[in-house]
Amino acid sequence: MDVYNPPMIAFEAIHKHYRVGAAEVRALQPLDLRIGRGEVFGVIGHSGAGKSTLLRMINLLERPSGGRLLIDGVDVTRLDGDALRALRRRIGMIFQHFNLLAAKTVAQNVAFPLRLAGRTRAEIARRVDELLERVGLAAHAAKYPAQLSGGQKQRVGIARALACGPDILLCDEATSALDPETTASVLQLLAELNRELGLTIVLITHEMDVVRRVCDRVAVLDAGQLVESGTVADVFLHPRHPTTRRFVLEAEHVDEREQRADRAQVSGRVVRLTFRGQATYAPLLGRVARASGVDYSILGGRIDRIKDTPYGQLTLALVGGDIESALHAFAAADVHVEELG
Ligand code: ADP
Repeated sequence: MDVYNPPMIAFEAIHKHYRVGAAEVRALQPLDLRIGRGEVFGVIGHSGAGKSTLLRMINLLERPSGGRLLIDGVDVTRLDGDALRALRRRIGMIFQHFNLLAAKTVAQNVAFPLRLAGRTRAEIARRVDELLERVGLAAHAAKYPAQLSGGQKQRVGIARALACGPDILLCDEATSALDPETTASVLQLLAELNRELGLTIVLITHEMDVVRRVCDRVAVLDAGQLVESGTVADVFLHPRHPTTRRFVLEAEHVDEREQRADRAQVSGRVVRLTFRGQATYAPLLGRVARASGVDYSILGGRIDRIKDTPYGQLTLALVGGDIESALHAFAAADVHVEELG
């Protein structure tokens, strides 16, 4: 199935201006974006870039100033009343600070949207049990939010967001208040729900690592403009826009100045090799070095995963031998070669 035909969510020349006194804040310039059915789509940007504005337009918590927003082929900017309420039931949302009702138990928090939707007591009880089981909180149903850890609170938020069986889950900086280990477990839960339920997930974040772990595609926002978008592998491994590059360097804990200083210490041609998938594990470096007579020193490198796909990125200084034939041999083995000077 072509997940983009029709797309689950399509922004068509959507833009948003806010009026603040006499001034106009251009929160989002006109942008086009298509999010596929069953996709995990990330939107990354610094604070003030327009991420929340974009996310909150999907469930019309914010109304666009112009353009069309199609969900499953329907222009939702024209909806109100019952049609809008029905749309919102198809879209769950989770938040950075969880937004739980402090005076209600875990089970009551999850039951809340079901009560609003007019479900029977028996239906609600069954569904709440099922959801708490799914998010790993069955033993905590009677506790209050204050008795839970941050990760557990977010699991309650996820169970509540899924209560009415939505097609789309919006995640507003959902892991930004969590420590790294808890972040990993919440992201893993989101990935499982995406696979098991075919849920379309749109998440906004300022951390490239979140995008790298769970997203299929990503859009980069900078000062209200969409500056880059594509598959996470393409954008993460070969960022084009300076803002994207900074996010990637941040995620890799690389200091650009230190990197330049390191390069100044070596002679030879500096290249960055990018391996994806099985090529990551091939014993290629030694083989190419022996065949071409080229020596190398390693200036930097990382082996990791983008979602489920392994990748490696190595920065090498090459000296001696037949460098051109070495570069050809890398390219022939499906390794992307970039000359860094
Ligand atoms: P992000 O989520 O990336 O931090 P936002 O979407 O919250 O960015 O904000 C984008 C821009 O719009 C910012 O300049 C912000 O100050 C402005 N903005 C957001 N909401 C409002 C509002 N209700 N009224 C006026 N300006 C707003």
